[in-house]
Amino acid sequence: MLVLSSPSGAGKTSLSRRLVADHAELKLSVSCTTRSPRPGEQEGREYAFVGRPAFDAMVAEAAFLEWAEVHDHRYGTPRAPVLAALEAGRDVLFDIDWQGAEQVAAGAPADVVRVFVLPPTMADLRRRLFARAQDGAEVIERRLARAPGEIARWSAYDYVLVNDDFDQAYADLAHIYHAERLKRARNPWLSGFVTGLLESAEP
Ligand code: 5GP
Repeated sequence: MLVLSSPSGAGKTSLSRRLVADHAELKLSVSCTTRSPRPGEQEGREYAFVGRPAFDAMVAEAAFLEWAEVHDHRYGTPRAPVLAALEAGRDVLFDIDWQGAEQVAAGAPADVVRVFVLPPTMADLRRRLFARAQDGAEVIERRLARAPGEIARWSAYDYVLVNDDFDQAYADLAHIYHAERLKRARNPWLSGFVTGLLESAEP
């Protein structure tokens, strides 16, 4: 489970979409949210957009692996698709905030890798939020006001990227994913392979 967090506008969504596009074995977890779709967002692609009663019913049924209130709305990761992907041997990428990252890591510390994405400057963060023009000025100001609180969580993460240059940040993220995938503990097939290797050795 690869968890990516950042303040809004630091480029985490673009990084995560590209990592998933480049790796068939990596599945993006699609969250539920009570916020309204932005222009261009599609039901089931960016999020499952649900009303507050439906969201709260899922909380009551323990249908979320984690959930949190972010920017006045609720966001949660449905548990079942994540478990199904993991059982099928796939990796799962989460684009979630620090509260969700903490919950996912608490549930399975050895199976979670956490990556935090920082903007190069606060002015850059502001520029990117206004440039993507998906939210009104008031919503953007609220998100910017919350950025320092989110950024303050950086030291709980395994890796921290400064997204100054997108291609460089993406290359670093891909390296992190590849190296973490190669860890011995994540490749249980190795012990059988080594047994076979030794059995086939000439006396
Ligand atoms: P946005 O409204 O910009 O799509 O997302 C706002 C914030 O909520 C982002 O930091 C995003 O990573 C976070 N987020 C999205 N889905 C989830 C989720 O399922 N759980 C948690 N904890 N945070 C989420």
